[in-house]
Amino acid sequence: MLIDIHAHLTDKRYGGDTQKLVNNFSQKRVGLVVDAGYDLRSSSLAYENAKKYTQIYATLGVHPEKPYEYDGSFEKFLIEKSESEKVIAIGEIGLDYHYDGYDKNLQREVFEKQITLADKLKLPIVVHSRDCSSDMLSVLTDNKKYLNNGFLMHCYSESKETAKKYLDLGAYFSFGGVITFKNSKKDEIVKSIPLDRILTETDCPYLTPHPHRGETNYPEMVELVYAKLCDIFNIDLESLEKVIESNAKTLFKKLK
Ligand SMILES: [Zn+2]
Repeated sequence: MLIDIHAHLTDKRYGGDTQKLVNNFSQKRVGLVVDAGYDLRSSSLAYENAKKYTQIYATLGVHPEKPYEYDGSFEKFLIEKSESEKVIAIGEIGLDYHYDGYDKNLQREVFEKQITLADKLKLPIVVHSRDCSSDMLSVLTDNKKYLNNGFLMHCYSESKETAKKYLDLGAYFSFGGVITFKNSKKDEIVKSIPLDRILTETDCPYLTPHPHRGETNYPEMVELVYAKLCDIFNIDLESLEKVIESNAKTLFKKLK
């Protein structure tokens, strides 16, 4: 089976028709999709999707683009809902300095609150990191004692050298459509990471793999990411599927 460890099935582009998404990805042997929350709305919907469909699991959290959504009632929501066996992590959470005008201090504060909460709840975290390399490394290093349940650097896009530092902190890395882009020049970075720390994702509806770039992305397109990884690691698909499944279940203990 194929695994999409990070997808946004609650995106408005899908029109709320989760059943159709499930039918389509199931036909393509995708047996497990993690629906990643990024604010209150998407986290609630991801939770509902996970409850309703066996193949779907959820992560709940506030993305750095919306740190102001994190308050006492959201925290209460995280504590309550994370008791579910289908909620596998807190995420996606992190830092994002891509656009001017983001409140970096608030991002960091909310990120750290969710890191410590995840530790209390004994859950791993799913990290979003964009254009913030040195700050991300310092937040994770400063909070190392709260990372005992593991963490995933989703859609990893930083350097080989930085990957090494995250690895030392215990990171897993997921890769999506970006590694399939022509001229992406990601092969060396991907190859520098031990295969037992790698996961596969789409981040759909974004980052559609080659040759579908520009179209809407779907979980079933994760097969193109698997194909690219087979290429990079010179491994056959069947073996890669086993490795990815074992990695996923090692990091996310609630996955069945
Ligand atoms: Zn995402």
